[in-house]
Amino acid sequence: MKPAPFDYWTPESLEHALALKAEHGDAARWLAGGQSLLPAMNLRLARPGILIDLNPLSGLDGLTVGDAGVARIGALVRYRALERDAGIARHQTLLAEAVPHVAHPQIRNRGTLCGNLAHADPASELPAVMLALGARLQARSIRGERWIDAQDFFVDLFTTALAPDELLAAVELPAPPPRSGGAFLEVARRRGDYAMMAVAAVIELAPDGSCTAARLAYGNAGPSARRAPAAEQALVGRRIDDAALREAAALAERAVDPPGSVHASPAFQRHLAGVLTRRAVATAVARVS
Ligand SMILES: Cc1cc2nc3c(=O)[nH]c(=O)nc-3n(C[C@H](O)[C@H](O)[C@H](O)COP(=O)(O)OP(=O)(O)OC[C@H]3O[C@@H](n4cnc5c(N)ncnc54)[C@H](O)[C@@H]3O)c2cc1C
Repeated sequence: MKPAPFDYWTPESLEHALALKAEHGDAARWLAGGQSLLPAMNLRLARPGILIDLNPLSGLDGLTVGDAGVARIGALVRYRALERDAGIARHQTLLAEAVPHVAHPQIRNRGTLCGNLAHADPASELPAVMLALGARLQARSIRGERWIDAQDFFVDLFTTALAPDELLAAVELPAPPPRSGGAFLEVARRRGDYAMMAVAAVIELAPDGSCTAARLAYGNAGPSARRAPAAEQALVGRRIDDAALREAAALAERAVDPPGSVHASPAFQRHLAGVLTRRAVATAVARVS
């Protein structure tokens, strides 16, 4: 398949790029790694009249991880850079664990975290990771910049809180809280496939071992990534023993609303959410440091 005709523009600066996007709105699309946009264009599922290529721009590929662990990831940071970054490996272990589950090495060489999040594929792993980590996303336009909590960013199927003139310029991950641990797990038919169900868990414990906070987030669990507040609350204020794990798993099964596919019925996906919740929470607890 070949895409419908389109114009391809290479802006001279970020300001120029934002001005073009402000002028053309939804008729123009940002081109980052192209790993979702170009297949969609080739299949004629997307027919943008204009592509504004971010790749020639400098200053969008910044990846910094501070001593405390706060990570800032620019719009052109590829998955591969995240996989290879020592700071991410040391401080942002949940993201480091999740990224190799995304697609295949060739796709991770080009694809970007920001492109993934802006695309908002409900089956993707990374929106769930952003929810579990409490990420903030920086939107930029000629009107200025604003920060959006991950919780408010993923609005619906392939729909985010970004306005037509905005660029997702960066993602900021907070430092992991003290005495916390995380785990990412998914079940996919083959390595590199989208998950039938994906779970990202972050657990915080008090010195006496009781749970002080829990964040559980799910991919391929509805029109957009979602948390399971009742399951989280079932863990808080108690030691996480088998009974707590079983209770949280049962509540997680009720919290997800998976679409089903040729590979898995909604009932099977719900079952996976329960099983993965149990395993991810137990693993996160074991990793608390
Ligand atoms: C065979 C295959 C398997 C895959 N498997 C998986 C998988 O298992 N899990 C998974 O999560 N993904 C998977 N993907 C998708 C891949 O992760 C994409 O790279 C990612 O979804 C999009 O990132 P990108 O940089 O390539 O964005 P692009 O394809 O360039 O853009 C995607 C969309 O986001 C917009 N956009 C891009 N950057 C920005 C920005 N900074 N601000 C605002 N809008 C922006 C574009 O205009 C476009 O609408 C797979 C892709 C392929 C081809």
